[in-house]
Amino acid sequence: MKLTPISWAFCASAVISLSACAQTAPATAPAALPELSVTRIECGTGITNEVGRFSDTFSMEGQKIPFVFSCYLIQHGNDYMLWDTGHALTAGAVAPKVSIVDQLAQLQLKPEQIKFVGISHYHADHTGQVASFPQATLLIGTGDWNVVTSPKPVGANPAFFAPWVSGGSKVETVPLDKDVFGDGSVVMLTTPGHTPGHHSVLIRLKQMGNLLISGDLAHFHENYETNGVPSFNTSRAESLASLERIKKMAAQLKATVILQHDARDVGKLPAFPAGAK
Ligand SMILES: [Zn+2]
Repeated sequence: MKLTPISWAFCASAVISLSACAQTAPATAPAALPELSVTRIECGTGITNEVGRFSDTFSMEGQKIPFVFSCYLIQHGNDYMLWDTGHALTAGAVAPKVSIVDQLAQLQLKPEQIKFVGISHYHADHTGQVASFPQATLLIGTGDWNVVTSPKPVGANPAFFAPWVSGGSKVETVPLDKDVFGDGSVVMLTTPGHTPGHHSVLIRLKQMGNLLISGDLAHFHENYETNGVPSFNTSRAESLASLERIKKMAAQLKATVILQHDARDVGKLPAFPAGAK
């Protein structure tokens, strides 16, 4: 039986009608979600620096906090997505000792198997190895892509994105949220402020539960908890709104929040080559 708008309104209006509504609803069971996992990949060599500039209220003045560089491999059935691509191998002291491609090889994966590369934002420590995956569709915030492709790409290195800037590889700009696989299991979340098109990502794992991976929404527990906004963010107001969104979402979904640069969050996922399911 085809449902009319009137019957839906009726269904919504009276609890007593719900069983009848259930019988008349289309008989399509929700599709079983494919296997999902998240594996952390080391994407730079960690450092410990003074972090005062990560809060524009002087709340972190004089503190020294270890800083790590994290990328993530997301498996969705037979499809693979990379979240961020870390430092380039030419980045000097903070360069990764092993490339993403070589770490993927340890997982028996070839670069061509990466279907999507999702970029949290255009900074060099998140985009340094992106050109290793020219077969992938690049998913990047529209505001960030506009900077990368602008005449004066302040803060971004367009050379990293050469395969996509040239038009040879496929890019999909993301203005708001994006449900990457169309089943709600992996969602890029618009969280601007650090950069104009910054995104975080929500992954709804079966065993571990909901996972929120920050990008650079906040770099450390200290500035996440106190709303410390880095002095070099592109919008203070957007940064605060994005922090509010993710904190509310984390509470609502009882999510594990992983700050990509915080060394204390590395242990929230199994150590490579293992992944969380
Ligand atoms: Zn950044």
